[in-house]
Amino acid sequence: MAEIALQDVHKAFGDFTAVRSSSFTIRNGEFFVMLGPSGCGKTTTLRMIAGLELPTSGRILLDGEDVTFNRASQRDIAFVFQLFALYPHMNVRQNISFPLRTQRLPRREVRARTEEVARMLQIDGILERRVSGLAAGDRQRVALGRAIVRRAKAFLMDEPLGALDAEFRETMCEELRLLHDRIGATTVYVTHDQIEAMAMADRICVMNRGEVLQIGPPMEVYARPATRFVAGFLGSPSMNFLPAEGRIAVGATSIRVGGATLAMPAVREGLAGPEAVIGARPEHIAITDEGPLRGRVFAVEYMGARQLVTVDTEAGRLRVRTPNTVRVAAGETVGLAFDAERLIVFDPVSDRAVA
Ligand code: ATP
Repeated sequence: MAEIALQDVHKAFGDFTAVRSSSFTIRNGEFFVMLGPSGCGKTTTLRMIAGLELPTSGRILLDGEDVTFNRASQRDIAFVFQLFALYPHMNVRQNISFPLRTQRLPRREVRARTEEVARMLQIDGILERRVSGLAAGDRQRVALGRAIVRRAKAFLMDEPLGALDAEFRETMCEELRLLHDRIGATTVYVTHDQIEAMAMADRICVMNRGEVLQIGPPMEVYARPATRFVAGFLGSPSMNFLPAEGRIAVGATSIRVGGATLAMPAVREGLAGPEAVIGARPEHIAITDEGPLRGRVFAVEYMGARQLVTVDTEAGRLRVRTPNTVRVAAGETVGLAFDAERLIVFDPVSDRAVA
């Protein structure tokens, strides 16, 4: 197990900055997910941790030891590429033991470790079977076995489920998380998929344009996003953003939106400009006659027990997620009430949440 610390790590390719001076610590045994859109610098960060890329400046510490200039092979960190790609012509044993055989370990050790991993994954009864004939669940376990058979201090995974279809991906996420809980090795996992990140992470690190924007447990990052970018990137359908009317002072606890007055948490810091943007998640808005913001229903989409209602208001188009027991139809005029505690106020100049 290992603690991985980045201290002011910066990476430029020529005059392009891929990772802007970042400092954070990945805790011992944690499942740490780096999340962000394509090109935000996730892979570059992972490659620097692995020793496949040298930072332009800053330091990387592994259990307190400075490994910035150590080669990848000296770091005892396993980089897992695609998790699902098995060798179809080999049997289960050969697939799992492959990383050990390429390290030229003694045969007895290869055998013992392969069998230990197979027992842990409950596939020790099918070691001599060809992988091509296996059920999907067993194939996943073989892939996981091959990934962890090399006992490393930490595992780094770069979009390992990227090419899988949705259903397979979901079960693989579960298996991976369960396996992590069993072996407890520090894992750094890169993805651009927020659902995957929310499901698996102990903590999520959200990046954009080479910058680390926020690190925290999934529910905290979801409920209290530090910036408008983070707020918009997590959650589907996305958070609603509405322009507020008038200036907002520090300490204010209400705001004018689309002609209505909404209660909100006290504003903590001053805004850089005269305008503010209010953020409200679709599940934090209710359709009720008493709701202060009026609007006209544009569309209703049923999603099982819930429905997604699109409403046009003076402040713009909003999406509301309600139980489908709330009867609404397109064309109706409705009132919208906001969960005051969960509203977020963003400064559109700095992008930061100020309340
Ligand atoms: P993706 O999910 O697309 O891999 P990412 O968040 O992992 O995105 P990186 O691969 O870290 O992003 O890349 C960040 C930026 O750095 C990209 O704009 C990429 O083009 C650039 N970049 C990465 N490697 C190099 C390189 N060797 N030389 C020049 N630019 C690079």
